[in-house]
Amino acid sequence: MRIAVDLNRCQGYAQCVFLAPGVFELHGDEALMYTPAPPADQRERVLRAAAACPVQAIVTGEPVGSEGPYVR
Ligand code: SF4
Repeated sequence: MRIAVDLNRCQGYAQCVFLAPGVFELHGDEALMYTPAPPADQRERVLRAAAACPVQAIVTGEPVGSEGPYVR
């Protein structure tokens, strides 16, 4: 799967970090780092994190071909 986070929208609430700590990481107060192509075993965690984000900043999908665009 692939993920993208709209960092303009992200408010650093860290729900995603809590739910999928292997994929999302906060550096400092509000700088979110994430793995854009997380391993398959993280899928459920990532979906939960995306659903929990209070500002819907996390978009998940599968790549079409070797690169985007994504299909939700
Ligand atoms: S849950 Fe949403 S707002 Fe919070 S850090 Fe993650 S992406 Fe940002």
